[in-house]
Amino acid sequence: MFSKYTVFVKNVPIGGHNPVVIQSMTNTNTLDTEKTIKQIINLSNAGAEIVRVSVRTLDDIPSFKKICEISSIPIVADIHFDYKVAIESIKAGASKIRINPGNIGSLWKVKEVVKVAKDYNIPIRVGANSGSIKKEFEILNMPRFKALAESALEEVKVMEELEFNNIIISIKSTDAKENFLANKYISEKVPYPLHIGITEAGIYEDALILSSAGLGALLLNNIGDTIRISIAGDPIKEVLAAKKLLTLLGFKKGPRIIACPTCARTEINVEYLANKVKEWTKNIDEDINVAVMGCVVNGPGEAKHADIGIAGTKTGGAIFINGEIAETVLFEKLEETFKKYIKNLISERKKI
Ligand code: SF4
Repeated sequence: MFSKYTVFVKNVPIGGHNPVVIQSMTNTNTLDTEKTIKQIINLSNAGAEIVRVSVRTLDDIPSFKKICEISSIPIVADIHFDYKVAIESIKAGASKIRINPGNIGSLWKVKEVVKVAKDYNIPIRVGANSGSIKKEFEILNMPRFKALAESALEEVKVMEELEFNNIIISIKSTDAKENFLANKYISEKVPYPLHIGITEAGIYEDALILSSAGLGALLLNNIGDTIRISIAGDPIKEVLAAKKLLTLLGFKKGPRIIACPTCARTEINVEYLANKVKEWTKNIDEDINVAVMGCVVNGPGEAKHADIGIAGTKTGGAIFINGEIAETVLFEKLEETFKKYIKNLISERKKI
């Protein structure tokens, strides 16, 4: 979000002062074109702005080509080892490739790949993760985060020596603190956009918490230009989680719903109502803070920073705007009245 360089993945700018780009990766078999395209459409509908697809061998290329042709969002080819696969992926329509120059082998092979990337004007993602720290840095006994960042810098140097600056750097660790320190370190050394994520973050809840802590810390330090939240399982969940994290941290427009933790004063089922409010506001594309509070005695005051809120009463709820109660209604009227107030609030804002 605050890297000096902006890199374009087809029509999607990454870096500079552009919004953080959400990405994910398909987990279908690339040879199954139809299934992979279907998953890309679902990821895009969920909010993914670019999607990565593994291109394992040259056999995947015809299907990958079709995927690139049909997809409305840019496709990134994920390559390991074979430079020929990297080259053919670019020719097949990849909008970016992810390679680890260290895995591709001899420099002449890397040169070949870079030459084609230059011809097609597409960026390359380079970097390192906790499993690919270079031995030379490990034996220097430096802190692991530094060894990780220096390993990625080596890859960057290879690209720079080939006069190729169209790069995005990725440094990932499974350890949130190491991940934070390594990304911070590299963000101070090079101007290129950063792809951030916690690698192998785990199953759903663990991945959410670990990624929110690790990536949240980076984003709040203005580090990170594109994000992938890695979750074992359905990649749609990755996109929804990334969207939620960016919205809750204020990097993406959308409703932010806060709710009180409830106590003995609670007059309404706060969890139920907050879920309802989430549903009622899901199509709003505006920065709006909505509070759902359990009681009218403390609720409006405690949440006066919210743009709009509902505080529970014995028979329904009180709608409050900036801490002041606007109207108290029965439960049956709550949805209709809340929607009326939020609509007014948004149209008032648009007039300004
Ligand atoms: Fe308790 Fe009311 Fe505060 Fe909710 S808003 S925690 S119900 S005092």
